Amino acid sequence: MNIRIGLGFDSHVFEEGKPLYIGGLRIEYPKGLKGHSDGDVLLHAITDAILGALGEPDIGQLFSDRDPRWRGASSEIFLKEALYRLKKRGYKVVNLDCTLVLDEPKIAPYKEAILENLSKLMDVSKDSISIKGKRREGFCMEEGVACFCVILIAHES
Ligand code: MG
Repeated sequence: MNIRIGLGFDSHVFEEGKPLYIGGLRIEYPKGLKGHSDGDVLLHAITDAILGALGEPDIGQLFSDRDPRWRGASSEIFLKEALYRLKKRGYKVVNLDCTLVLDEPKIAPYKEAILENLSKLMDVSKDSISIKGKRREGFCMEEGVACFCVILIAHES
């Protein structure tokens, strides 16, 4: 079986008054994630994990933060492009494991909704996706959210 593995990492600091998106889900919180796009740290890490598994250019190469087209853009656009490349190359997702590193907001109450949303966005069953929340415990100097993802993909043939 032709299988490949990909690692994605991303981090964003908080910005007052910006809407917070994690995994494509709008989360009620007074701060959002600073960034050129909507700052969705989970979708960015997943996008890079897929692109990395494929050996394709990374998210920053495909969607430059100097390109005005991506200012305030929904990060679903980036994920969709990575999934398009995955399908075009004849691969499917076997499983995806993600760890969000953050103190606030607590992820547990949103976990199920994030899973639902990712499952729909990626056309992957919920039991093939794992989302975990971990407190920072001193990791990252500034307040924000970091995310690590590992993905396994297999060729459909
Ligand atoms: Mg990012």
